[in-house]
Amino acid sequence: MLKIENLHVRVAGKEILKGLSLDVKPGEVHAIMGPNGAGKSTLGNVLAGREGYEITAGTVDFGDKDLLQLEPEERAAEGLFLAFQYPVEIPGVNNTYFLKAALNAQRKYRGQAELDSMQFLKLVREKLRVLHISDELLHRAVNSGFSGGEKKRNEIFQMALLEPRLAILDETDSGLDIDALKMVAEGVNHMRSPDRAFIVITHYQRLLDYIVPDFVHVLAEGRIVESGDKSLAHKLEEHGYAWLDERRVPER
Ligand code: ADP
Ligand code: MG
Ligand code: MG
Repeated sequence: MLKIENLHVRVAGKEILKGLSLDVKPGEVHAIMGPNGAGKSTLGNVLAGREGYEITAGTVDFGDKDLLQLEPEERAAEGLFLAFQYPVEIPGVNNTYFLKAALNAQRKYRGQAELDSMQFLKLVREKLRVLHISDELLHRAVNSGFSGGEKKRNEIFQMALLEPRLAILDETDSGLDIDALKMVAEGVNHMRSPDRAFIVITHYQRLLDYIVPDFVHVLAEGRIVESGDKSLAHKLEEHGYAWLDERRVPER
């Protein structure tokens, strides 16, 4: 589904990703952990197609497509979901309107009929019900004045509406409270299926108490330096990241 090979990325003239490789298959949940500043969010941003990232080597295949050749909207329409590809705040734009536009843009790209307001609201109500969230956020401007937890809730709701093939979630280092973590985890767990994959980026192990990953990777100094199952996350929680230093392979 997603195959990253030897990815090298420069940001503001500095090499941040230095030969990162990752293989994600349908149905899998991969956690990416790593010390602050390792390049976790950079990886997410590059996959989203955000500007300001210079790819100097490597390939990224998404299904049968060369992901790096696609515009951000095309990536979304191909079924890649990145919460942070959407603007942080859009004052004055109603959230419901925004979500409908995003969904219909995706449908149009795929040659599907656009949903009218009635059909969209039916879908919205269904998703709200299964995710156990209230419709309160829908009536506000996009992310305007949302708390950290509300932004996450809105991201999960966007994800549920867009039904991606691959969803990438960056917990960021801001530190969500336990209720927000549980809500994110519930959304992800609800959407887990044999034909959908997730990449969960997190600095801390605690999210992985609720989303049990199939694989855990450590991103350090721009590469995956260690991979394992969920027990690796517990090892990192206990021993930190320092023990990986002596095992680090030379750069290519
Ligand atoms: P992580 O998410 O693992 O904490 P990031 O991907 O946010 O790490 O950052 C990796 C490195 O790239 C850091 O040293 C950070 O300072 C640098 N970096 C990220 N974005 C930019 C940018 N836009 N300009 C300059 N440096 C950046
Ligand atoms: Mg950081
Ligand atoms: Mg980050």
